[in-house]
Amino acid sequence: MIDAQKTITTTDIAIIGAGPVGLFMVFEAGLLGYKCAVIDSLPEIGGQLTALYPEKPIYDIPGFPSILAGDIVNNLAEQALPFKPEYILCNPVDGLTENKDGSFTLNTATDTIHAKVVIIAAGMGVFTPRRPPLDNLAEFENKSVFYSVRNKDRFADKNIVIAGGGDSAADWAVELAPKAKAVHVIHRRNTFRAAEDTVRKMKELEESGKIIIHAPAQLSQLHGDNGQLNTITITDLENNPTQLECDNLLCFFGMSPALGPIAEWEIDLSGKKIAVTPATMETTRHGILAIGDITDYAGKLDLILTGFAEGAIAAKTAQGIIEPDKQFKLVYTTSKGVPAA
Ligand SMILES: Cc1cc2nc3c(=O)[nH]c(=O)nc-3n(C[C@H](O)[C@H](O)[C@H](O)COP(=O)(O)OP(=O)(O)OC[C@H]3O[C@@H](n4cnc5c(N)ncnc54)[C@H](O)[C@@H]3O)c2cc1C
Repeated sequence: MIDAQKTITTTDIAIIGAGPVGLFMVFEAGLLGYKCAVIDSLPEIGGQLTALYPEKPIYDIPGFPSILAGDIVNNLAEQALPFKPEYILCNPVDGLTENKDGSFTLNTATDTIHAKVVIIAAGMGVFTPRRPPLDNLAEFENKSVFYSVRNKDRFADKNIVIAGGGDSAADWAVELAPKAKAVHVIHRRNTFRAAEDTVRKMKELEESGKIIIHAPAQLSQLHGDNGQLNTITITDLENNPTQLECDNLLCFFGMSPALGPIAEWEIDLSGKKIAVTPATMETTRHGILAIGDITDYAGKLDLILTGFAEGAIAAKTAQGIIEPDKQFKLVYTTSKGVPAA
């Protein structure tokens, strides 16, 4: 069924995952003349490199003795640019249907993507926020309890409780303190894992009364009506309760990956990964290929450089599916060049 509210994209290849391997796939497909749409559940491209270690140097990218993970992502995006990929971000792919002509339709909450070939470059899977174990949490989620900040203005003049002890918790406490009515930070330990400079700023704001830190303490109960919080109960190490006025709770307990709906697409799995034929990167379903960390085969190495090579192989296989009568010809970029960006 076509949903009139959704944005429709028609492309040659739909790539699920904008990690390094998905981004390089755009380049390899582009060399053979194919357009790609790249869909990711995260708000930014780069996969694990952006989400987990953007500031770390990597030493095993061929040709780069040392390069920051964030810079690899920028370079990959630049390298893909001549082939004009369509990025559909903040959009986990949740549905796949096969059409009568053998093409596929992918669905996200807001988009429908029609493609001749689907390439799954989903890495460790969709990163989903770790939730606190609170009884009535679901009633408040996405109404007054959030796991990320999309629009900070919505927290102006509100009583905000921020739970967590890492960079996201500290960054948002410092960022929201000048706008909010009150900012309470709840952390299980006395020490924060966030960047030293941010922790220092947070402590300064605590001294000036703009932030109230409760540590060690943890969330215990949520109170409110129709999804809107009004109070929360926190407890200290001896289980002594304290009630805090609270309009919004922001939980930053990290992300955990999950294969999600891909596990239900009638593709053979190998544990939590997708079984592929390494000579072609084909899954057990015609027209659906997989590359990068999500794949498994004998001798598989979960490295970026392995994923890049798998992208080149997948492009060749995709040509065989999209244009079965066309002879594959390996062309060097030194002789063919690339289109202007
Ligand atoms: C701390 C750390 C250090 C590392 N250091 C190195 C190193 O030095 N050298 C090296 O080679 N490798 C290193 N790695 C491993 C490297 O990061 C991975 O091999 C690489 O990220 C795999 O790329 P990928 O594109 O396959 O997957 P990912 O980077 O995991 O990207 C997959 C993307 O798919 C998205 N996605 C998943 N499911 C869906 C869905 N249903 N809908 C929409 N989007 C979806 C995810 O949101 C994610 O953005 C390191 C990893 C970590 C954690």
